Amino acid sequence: MTSSLIDKWLKTDRRIAWPRACALCADTVADDRGICDGCRGDLAWLTHSCVYCALALAPDTATTVCRHCQRSPAFDRALAACHYDEAMAWLVGSLKFRGRIAHARVLARLLAERVGAADWPGCDLLLPVPLHAASFRRRGFNQAERIAHHLGARLGVPVAGHGLRRLRATQRQSTLSVAARAANVRGAFTCDRDLTGCRVAIVDDVITTTRTARAVAEVVRAAGATHVMCLAPARA
Ligand SMILES: [Zn+2]
Ligand SMILES: [Zn+2]
Repeated sequence: MTSSLIDKWLKTDRRIAWPRACALCADTVADDRGICDGCRGDLAWLTHSCVYCALALAPDTATTVCRHCQRSPAFDRALAACHYDEAMAWLVGSLKFRGRIAHARVLARLLAERVGAADWPGCDLLLPVPLHAASFRRRGFNQAERIAHHLGARLGVPVAGHGLRRLRATQRQSTLSVAARAANVRGAFTCDRDLTGCRVAIVDDVITTTRTARAVAEVVRAAGATHVMCLAPARA
């Protein structure tokens, strides 16, 4: 291959590897972050949140645990990059419902930055929240898996491609009352992978009530995981 052909191939590959336009405002982005400096400055980073469920805490409080987790910690550790505001809703929504696959990389990058800046204990395996088989067929991909794939590459942590399954189609948690959400995901997941001694981080696109990830955590713990953590680009 001649050097000019290699140059051309590298340029083509770079175009495929990351979008050159800001995912939020379509301005040109000089590097591979996917979001321009202006939009990054407007991101609602979640810098003070509950260590066990990533719920935003009042910035002026010294506490690091929310009142729910003081009674019963949701996970061994949880971290989200940003508040689920309009910008994050756009990034996540267009990934899930309009097939903007490149947004998975942008979201994972934000999450990796947050993990890098936080006192994150590390984990052995990333476990994306699975879609039900029918939802996967309809969408063609699992957004949590795509985010986990990019996150794993950045953190140097393997991603579980199998072993965790969603047994039944559940309704979107956001469409249900608080009372109905627990019943919606109860018994919805199964794990047939041996996770004995493993420190696992569940990866989802958004943490809302934590019920979905907690339903996953239950089967992951039953499969032998010693630590179950939760990571998401956004926290509602
Ligand atoms: Zn922008
Ligand atoms: Zn909490």
